Amino acid sequence: MTQTFDAAFLVRWLATVAEAVDREADRLTELDSAIGDADHGANLRRGFAAVTAALAEDPPATPGGALAAAGRQLISTVGGASGPLYGTLLRRTGKALGDDPRVTREQLAEALGTGVAAVSQLGGAQVGDKTMLDALTPAVDGLRDSFGAARTAAEEGALATVPLRARKGRASYLGERSVGHQDPGATSSALLFAALDEVARGEASRGQVAPDEVARGEVAPDETQSDAEGAA
Ligand code: ADP
Ligand code: MG
Repeated sequence: MTQTFDAAFLVRWLATVAEAVDREADRLTELDSAIGDADHGANLRRGFAAVTAALAEDPPATPGGALAAAGRQLISTVGGASGPLYGTLLRRTGKALGDDPRVTREQLAEALGTGVAAVSQLGGAQVGDKTMLDALTPAVDGLRDSFGAARTAAEEGALATVPLRARKGRASYLGERSVGHQDPGATSSALLFAALDEVARGEASRGQVAPDEVARGEVAPDETQSDAEGAA
């Protein structure tokens, strides 16, 4: 049995991102103060709070509708570069998902691939330029295997920005001085995929996953998650 995800799952994902961004806003701003203008945490906090409010006010009927609505909110509420970029990511991913009431992880990965390509086109950046794409691109590849692989790939991608010299965005104005700092946008992208893994694990404990998918390690029951957190 292939697991599928409905609009409510996507709404839970975005709400979990909003919580993570709120919790990590100071760290994101601190990273942005080293190689930017110290507003990344505030930008995303404002944007994802607006996303949560909009989705609560007007609950989406489809996964694609949830992401498209979220993207529109980010574009209209976040002034920095990250608003249009993340807004484009979600809006284009939502459009690529179409009107299906339920989607598979594979469909989500495919659609996110379209969204990430749109981010690259809008910002003119590629992997290695020390931007959010350094986390987003490997994460989408990982998502073809599992939610956990996507999360790990995004976190590794964000860490891998430290030695890079920024070639796009505000950090590129620093040239060599951008080396040695983790990119704020790649760091927030890792939060997106950590949140996705988290809600997918929650889904497993809601009894909507075939036991064999748990056995194959594609999703872990909640106990595993809290054990891991306890150990951290
Ligand atoms: P601003 O740079 O306008 O202050 P934010 O601080 O909110 O906006 O976001 C900065 C992040 O946006 C960077 O860390 C980087 O990951 C991402 N970013 C900036 N420019 C680009 C670009 N051209 N392509 C992809 N990502 C970019
Ligand atoms: Mg900034």
